Amino acid sequence: MAMAATSLGTSRIPFPPSTLQTLTRGLPSISFLSLPKPFFSTSSVSSSSSSSSSSALRSTVFNHTRRRRLISVRAGTENGPGDSKRFDFDLFTIGAGSGGVRASRFAASYGATVAICELPFSTISSDNSGGVGGTCVLRGCVPKKLLVYSSKYSHEFEESHGFGWNYEVDPEHDWNILMANKNAELQRLTGIYQNILKNSGVTLIEGRGKIIDPHTVDVNGKLYSARHILVSVGSRPFILDIPGKEYAIDSDAALDLPSKPEKIAIVGGGYIALEFAGIFNGLKSDVHVFIRQKKVLRGFDEEIREFVAEQMSLRGIEFHTEESPQAILKASDGSFSLKTNKETVDGFSHVMFATGRRPNTKNLGLEEVGVELAKNGAIVVNEYSQTAVDSIWAVGDATDRINLTPVALMEGMAFAKTVFGGEPTKPNYSAVPSAVFSQPPIGQVGLTEEQAIQEYGDVDIFTANFRPLKATLSGLPDRVLMKLIVCANTKKVLGVHMCGEDSPEIIQGIAIAVKAGLTKADFDATVGIHPTSAEEFVTMRSPTRKIRRSPASEGKTEEIKSAA
Ligand SMILES: Cc1cc2nc3c(=O)[nH]c(=O)nc-3n(C[C@H](O)[C@H](O)[C@H](O)COP(=O)(O)OP(=O)(O)OC[C@H]3O[C@@H](n4cnc5c(N)ncnc54)[C@H](O)[C@@H]3O)c2cc1C
Repeated sequence: MAMAATSLGTSRIPFPPSTLQTLTRGLPSISFLSLPKPFFSTSSVSSSSSSSSSSALRSTVFNHTRRRRLISVRAGTENGPGDSKRFDFDLFTIGAGSGGVRASRFAASYGATVAICELPFSTISSDNSGGVGGTCVLRGCVPKKLLVYSSKYSHEFEESHGFGWNYEVDPEHDWNILMANKNAELQRLTGIYQNILKNSGVTLIEGRGKIIDPHTVDVNGKLYSARHILVSVGSRPFILDIPGKEYAIDSDAALDLPSKPEKIAIVGGGYIALEFAGIFNGLKSDVHVFIRQKKVLRGFDEEIREFVAEQMSLRGIEFHTEESPQAILKASDGSFSLKTNKETVDGFSHVMFATGRRPNTKNLGLEEVGVELAKNGAIVVNEYSQTAVDSIWAVGDATDRINLTPVALMEGMAFAKTVFGGEPTKPNYSAVPSAVFSQPPIGQVGLTEEQAIQEYGDVDIFTANFRPLKATLSGLPDRVLMKLIVCANTKKVLGVHMCGEDSPEIIQGIAIAVKAGLTKADFDATVGIHPTSAEEFVTMRSPTRKIRRSPASEGKTEEIKSAA
């Protein structure tokens, strides 16, 4: 997953909405943007058929051609100043990651002529390399989760002894097999994304896009004109500027190392740092995590922050808190030392920086044409993802709103609907669930306890901290923490948090209930599935604490012994 800021950088992990508001407070107010008239109205366009029968295919082709004609007529006559101009495309998208691909194929499905440019494929991103599919598919969610799967086995082997399993020799891990299989899967996925674009009628152009004027993009010296330009260039890892930074690796490199680290320093306390700590710990590397703050995962629920660090420590990860890196030194034997404000730790085979990400907006020609950028390079957009230049739009990590794949998809889809579907649509950031694929993992949706108190004053907190059934026989010290945050007045469930096995899968289901605004009574009325950990969410009967901070009950926190 992903979301809250790492402790050292400004990159973001999935923030609950109120954290998002806090983060965007510093951005300039966006009064300069008025939503343009939709490109064309859906009523004039038939929707395409996806049937594979030949008559359906003929009708699809017919509808497609008919839509093209409609668009080109309107492009030339109906859309205000500049419309007498003919464009090569209705939409030109820069960047074929999650947001760009989704926006482009939906725009095409509404009948727009669409081109998208993307850098040549590489597992490691640079100014000149990327690949269709973007960060999520090639350097983020997917390869990361594959490595999480691989690393989880060691814990499962340990658990299995209490269930009667014995191995004559300890299972061995082959890093080369993992990398080869992972890279083959990435190649397969990038191919699938290329096909998705092709089948949607989107023209894919390989190369680096740069904006020349509000309607022109240069790709490797060739100019393309477009009625609308969408910037979906994502973000790239940010490496701290300290002596020896050239020895550090980032998350791109960590996903594609030639050999498994023996001993690794991971700098950063955000979700990417914790996920990689879990991966390398599971694969039996010696893992040290250095964080600038006291706790990991800034922006998450405080109890969850403490709980996950405790559980990860029990699995052998060493946390160095309140330590800022000052230099990386290389020893004569090739190993690295990390010097911090408190100590120098020697003998690392790798030092990884998970210290945030920066929007990929340098040398794109954005400021030159009048697009406003925030201090960290994020593109400033209005609620419809439109920039200060009417014809230029931006979605995904490049706008640094909530930096998650499903959010980039939502923004891309909303953009296409607004501009080409005749249906102005704002992305909705309420109750965006998120996960951290640490070991144990975290799932969360809605407000943290601290945010709920700030927003609602009076809240009831229900918690369960227990040893799961599996741990009774495995004998391992694994525990689960579950938490419901309920508004004391309306009884609405404001936030749900979990750290423990399967929590991302469980919270995805619970997110529907929170998004729908269900109350604690609705949870209580739901029959559990037994025996599961998840059933705790519908059986927490009495609150662990009632917090009363509204003016009428200022300052009262009633601690209640143990929940249901
Ligand atoms: C290690 C890691 C783990 C993550 N895990 C999760 C997770 O578990 N769940 C989750 O939801 N999110 C996760 N994320 C975040 C997620 O990957 C991003 O939020 C998502 O990919 C953003 O999509 P996007 O379209 O904005 O940008 P991207 O997917 O980054 O796509 C941008 C594309 O633009 C291309 N590009 C850049 N500049 C140019 C140019 N000038 N011309 C042409 N092309 C250009 C790039 O090559 C890239 O392909 C993770 C991220 C990382 C780094």
